[in-house]
Amino acid sequence: MNAISMNMVTLLYLVASICFIQALKGLSSPASARTGNAFGMAGMAIAALTTVALIVKLQSLMATGSFGFGLVLLGTVVGGGIGAVAARKVEMTKMPELVAAMHSLIGLAAVCIAVAAVSEPWAFRIAEQGQPLPFGNRIELFIGTFVGAVTFSGSVIAFGKLSGKYKFRLFQGAPVRFPGQHMVNLGIAVAIVALGLVFCFDAGTAPAWTPFIAMAALAFLLGVLIIIPIGGADMPVVVSMLNSYSGWAAAGIGFSLNNAMLIIAGSLVGSSGAILSYIMCKAMNRSFFNVILGGFGGEAGATAAGEQAQRPVKSGSADDATFIMSNAESVIIVPGYGLAVARAQHALKELVEKLTHKGVAVRYAIHPVAGRMPGHMNVLLAEAEVPYDQVFEMEDINAEFGQTDVVLVLGANDVVNPAAKDPKSPIAGMPILEAYKAKSVIVNKRSMASGYAGLDNDLFYQPNTMMVFGDAKKVIEEMVKAVD
Ligand code: NDP
Repeated sequence: MNAISMNMVTLLYLVASICFIQALKGLSSPASARTGNAFGMAGMAIAALTTVALIVKLQSLMATGSFGFGLVLLGTVVGGGIGAVAARKVEMTKMPELVAAMHSLIGLAAVCIAVAAVSEPWAFRIAEQGQPLPFGNRIELFIGTFVGAVTFSGSVIAFGKLSGKYKFRLFQGAPVRFPGQHMVNLGIAVAIVALGLVFCFDAGTAPAWTPFIAMAALAFLLGVLIIIPIGGADMPVVVSMLNSYSGWAAAGIGFSLNNAMLIIAGSLVGSSGAILSYIMCKAMNRSFFNVILGGFGGEAGATAAGEQAQRPVKSGSADDATFIMSNAESVIIVPGYGLAVARAQHALKELVEKLTHKGVAVRYAIHPVAGRMPGHMNVLLAEAEVPYDQVFEMEDINAEFGQTDVVLVLGANDVVNPAAKDPKSPIAGMPILEAYKAKSVIVNKRSMASGYAGLDNDLFYQPNTMMVFGDAKKVIEEMVKAVD
């Protein structure tokens, strides 16, 4: 390890970067997602080991002893251990909070690295001992600290809102708003830029700690203030946005440290997070600013659901639903968040196998934002080893609903809500799975409660719709038993 050359480090970082690009490519389809993950793990292992070898080399060059290396090793073992346990234990529906927690750490790491680089630039080979930090590096460190601090505190709030477990007001799903909020945020942002400029233009040999610390403190505060007015329903988009920020923070620090790996990996995370935020906003027909300035599904939506809850609905048993499906030629299944909560994907696969055996053509229709994170339903179905050729994306299957005998909606609500076609609805324009066009619709959920957007759903009141109330797993297991 000691003998690793800089050319070898560059080459290995390049190999790791190619692995990361392959990982992103693989993750774009459920069929290649496992390979993509394997590439990601290989890339990260190569990058981490190369960095350890680089640290050993630099330490031997600088004759600083092995204390720093010991700390790196300790951090890797403790951090890696906690990460492995958390990843193994986390439930699929809790994934967005885990991701938020991880992003907070990336943001904090960016701030810590920047503080270390400002404090001892010679250890990072940015400046000779006793020399001031070069101007370009000061700008990079300012931007890295700012973005890292906003990412950290914003992700902590997002984590609290997503988990919904904590009593602390700022961690509640409901937006926290106060008069003049946007002006306060703007004022803080202007102060951060002003302090950043003071830090960047100070050419003294001693770092300008006062503006730097004040700027970092305000950036931590700004992170909290920009996330608290956003409702829990929009948190997955916010997490994706913070994901993007954390990537840019890492890339910024990579420039300061002259580390190509950090620049490439950070840029990949930054740009893929930005693209994902865009795709999610588009799938909900919302503008990015609409999400950032406060979401849908507030009090107005909840009232709308309450007002209409008195309308009559037709309900039936799991047996009734099974009879209808067994006698159909074609069935489309629409999975939603409730299916994930009930962990009913394995029972569902069994039901589909039995129906297929009886000659019913069954397909799954996936909405891009069904569930609580992008690709949630694809992962859920893949976990149950549902064949990929039975799974269709919205744009590929929407035209088929009109010619389909039965649509079985399982724990989904907003993604099949025809209110999206009403220009006055809060979800107007959101593309939906057009389940309402099918000859018969069967909807399984536990009650008439609204979905994430807090809106009532006309689909449930259609004359050709039958509600089957109950937990998805229990209902599907009853259906499996009922297929003769
Ligand atoms: P919804 O949240 O609209 O509806 C889920 C339904 O599942 C609820 O109405 C609930 O009704 C029912 N449910 C809950 N638990 C169970 C259970 N154990 N058994 C049966 N049913 C159950 O989910 P959708 O998937 O339709 O829509 C996703 C929503 O999340 C959209 O509004 C989307 O915009 C939003 N979103 C998604 C993102 C993503 O990336 N996927 C990102 C940001 C937001 P009941 O309580 O009566 O059982």
